[in-house]
Amino acid sequence: MSVRLRFAPSPTGYLHIGGARTALFSWMFVKRHGGQFILRIEDTDQKRFVEGAVEEIMASMRWLGLDWDEGPDIGGPYGPYVQTERAALYQEWANWLVDNGRAYKCFATAEELAEMRVELEAKGDRSGYDRRYRDMDAAQVAELEAQGKPYVIRYKMPLDGVTVVEDLIRGEVVFENSQFTDAVLMKSTGLPTYHLAHVVDDHFMEITHITRGDEWLSSAPLHFQLWQAFGWERPLYAHMPVILNPSGKGKLSKRTQSFQDGQWQVLVKVDEYEEQGYIPVAVNNFIANVGWSSGDDLEIFTPEEIIPRFDLADVNSAPTSLPYAKLDWINGQHIQQMDDVELAKALKPFLEAAGYEVNVEALLIVMPSMKVRLKRLTDAEEFLQFLFSDDAAIELTADQLVHNQLPADAARNGYEQALAFVQTTDTFDLDTISTTLMSIGESVTTTGKAGPFLGKLRLAMTGQNVSPPVFESMLALGRERTAARLKQVVGLFA
Ligand code: GLU
Repeated sequence: MSVRLRFAPSPTGYLHIGGARTALFSWMFVKRHGGQFILRIEDTDQKRFVEGAVEEIMASMRWLGLDWDEGPDIGGPYGPYVQTERAALYQEWANWLVDNGRAYKCFATAEELAEMRVELEAKGDRSGYDRRYRDMDAAQVAELEAQGKPYVIRYKMPLDGVTVVEDLIRGEVVFENSQFTDAVLMKSTGLPTYHLAHVVDDHFMEITHITRGDEWLSSAPLHFQLWQAFGWERPLYAHMPVILNPSGKGKLSKRTQSFQDGQWQVLVKVDEYEEQGYIPVAVNNFIANVGWSSGDDLEIFTPEEIIPRFDLADVNSAPTSLPYAKLDWINGQHIQQMDDVELAKALKPFLEAAGYEVNVEALLIVMPSMKVRLKRLTDAEEFLQFLFSDDAAIELTADQLVHNQLPADAARNGYEQALAFVQTTDTFDLDTISTTLMSIGESVTTTGKAGPFLGKLRLAMTGQNVSPPVFESMLALGRERTAARLKQVVGLFA
């Protein structure tokens, strides 16, 4: 039998980094077993539906490279993949449970429920429902229905005994049935709750493993009950451990964003990672490190590298925080492994957003030195400012371009020689540039060492303290612009 896992987000907003980790683990598991990964949209809670959320979630998943084999956009043999389009199926199976004595119609009105809650709470019972419609006789039910009274369908939870939840990550978790009241399966609107919907879908979509957040563990006994009531073979469940705030307290949430002040900004939405210049492979690496470990010291990896050894059963059940302090380092390591052309392509939108008109050829020239320095794609903006800014925009004074081993006369002489070289040389390549400028530098400094001259020349060419090395910078600027900048510099010493 083929392994089939689904990622089943509710379209209530963006893709949360915790959801992305669940999706990544599920996707890796599918890839390892050559199975299918399904995207299903759980939109039965219409009150929480956010316009555009489905598209945003899909875009984030595509960005991470978590492609699906079946889903709302591409269809598949088990569709539809949007729950509101499957309403009739849930209704049918809710009725089946009623007909088979495993569920019942409850006609309690909102006011009735509110009163009930108060009464129960006074007795220390926080369940919110006293099962008053559970044993109503058939004739009475028929009468209320005939009067057109709205109702929900509730599951008849056993009143005693235990339900044992078997979980791939946590092992067996035993729940007393008496702690549960009769949960709503179908709402009066004709739409199901998550409890019923996921069981029906996971059965008919032939899902083999249910991976989801730990927050669902407490309702898992109801879900196990439902599988049993239907007499369907239950998939394996794996509840992913909670991701905590960096403080280690509480669940990572959007509100955590304020955790800053010298600390790494905490990013919760997947698209924030993209905006801030992180690359997908690094984000996958970052989130895979939480709750799962390769078992050796491997810290930098691609999902493809770890797929052969990834197992859901190895996920650690303890809640942990994401190592934000390592994120830039992880990203930098992956940037270094990128192919030059690929990196140039990735940088282009960031540079364009900064208002630069990008010349990819020039970008490729500075790539080797830039690659080892970039932590995020957004760092390129500052690093490459010299390349995309106007030549005249570099504002320097002669004072900034001298050194104690390079007095004004010597400096002027050096810059003039450099200008003459750039204007007359037949070949303007890295080799010629470096050999010529090294020897000019050695001839003008008081110590005979080129360093101070080259350092100042770099500042002259880029106007920046952080930039690619001078030879690469000049080559990237090209002969004309280099000459224009040198002329400006020489002019400062007139
Ligand atoms: N729709 C649920 C949520 O977004 C998914 C739970 C599941 O994967 O079964 O939390």
